[in-house]
Amino acid sequence: MTAASEVRGGPPVASRRETIQPKGMKRPVHARLTPAATKHVKRGHPWVFDQSITHLSHTGEAGDVVVLHDASRKQIGLGLLDPRGPIRVRVLLTGRAQIGEAFFADRVRAAVAIRERLNTSGTNGYRVIHGENDGFGGLVVDRYANVLVVKVYSRAWFPHLDAIVDALTAHFSPAAVVFRRARSLDDVDLEDGTVIRGSLSSPRVRFSENGLLFEADPIAGQKTGFFLDQRDNREKVGARSQDKTVLNVFSYSGGFSVYAQRGGARAVTSLDLSQPALDDAAQHFAINGFPPHRCLQGDAFEVLKRLAKEGSRYDVVVIDPPAFAKRQSEVDGALRAYARLTRLGLDVLDVGGELVLASCSSRVDASAFRDNALSAAQAHGQPLTVVEETGHALDHPSTFPEASYLKCLYCQRS
Ligand code: SAH
Repeated sequence: MTAASEVRGGPPVASRRETIQPKGMKRPVHARLTPAATKHVKRGHPWVFDQSITHLSHTGEAGDVVVLHDASRKQIGLGLLDPRGPIRVRVLLTGRAQIGEAFFADRVRAAVAIRERLNTSGTNGYRVIHGENDGFGGLVVDRYANVLVVKVYSRAWFPHLDAIVDALTAHFSPAAVVFRRARSLDDVDLEDGTVIRGSLSSPRVRFSENGLLFEADPIAGQKTGFFLDQRDNREKVGARSQDKTVLNVFSYSGGFSVYAQRGGARAVTSLDLSQPALDDAAQHFAINGFPPHRCLQGDAFEVLKRLAKEGSRYDVVVIDPPAFAKRQSEVDGALRAYARLTRLGLDVLDVGGELVLASCSSRVDASAFRDNALSAAQAHGQPLTVVEETGHALDHPSTFPEASYLKCLYCQRS
């Protein structure tokens, strides 16, 4: 079985028997791995760290194919090289398979096929390629209507971008393709936010999500311009909002708020530190033809405290903060912050209300997140019952442990 088919449930590997390489690819680099890394690769893990390589045939350049070997020099897989990244090789395949001319186009086609169902739900903003979970470790592609945003987290992809964008263009005929890159790739020539194909008619791109209108700023917005990963949770919150008062904490551009309004909320409030994000939230209400809603600018921890003191209470409180733990050493602090937010949320939640707690910290797993929130509520004298728990949406598949970052708890206060 190939890494890809283990990793994401079997993309086409039609070209595995071909021994040619994609055009322009040079002689492969050969890398020998430690026994531990060998085990991980064989199981389909998509990363090889620099310390896991015991021997390298030659230095190689970004994007070179790397043939991976175990200690006894048996081939165990293939990947792409990032000579400067801590994740030195992005694994593409395990075993003795080869990659051929159509390799990337085949993988793009498989990724597009998975998302077909979204096209029929009034949604033309979604993730087309979700990194390693779609067989493209360190590469993300988001679609906003007729604009594609390609975000690169590894130098391994640079020589192959044209082939990938060609394959994407064959499916979507986009008006523009925007290039974004991780901040750590500052040695790369291509500027973050460059339009690499076509042109943008406006810096803000309007798209639909479940029939609602939103705008993304693909050139300068956070991530690729919008938090597409919360689409299903936003819809669930909308369905729970009829006649309710809803507080959306860490609202960014008001995604949850817009759904709450459509769901028939009596009043909706967005709270965020960023005034531009709140301006976008107001704009999102306007373009959907909704009346203006309340926007509170400030630090969520402070504003929640103030709201509680003032006696403000809500039927639904959504708390979707930024990632608190990007590395293992930050996990304890993140759990404390989640516990604090749980207590602050409870202090503004009406009896019988629902607290929706989300976490996008990949280092905090689902059970730790749930246990932490429930024990914080218990210790606060306001026990919560989890009525629903969600993870990754269709267009954000998660196929290896580190990829499971999104967790959302729907908790009832009795
Ligand atoms: N729920 C949003 C995504 C949230 S992203 C959605 O569905 O689109 C995290 C948001 O938290 C960002 O908008 C950021 O501006 C905001 N933020 C970060 N720190 C904050 C703080 N201390 N107080 C309030 N907002 C904060």
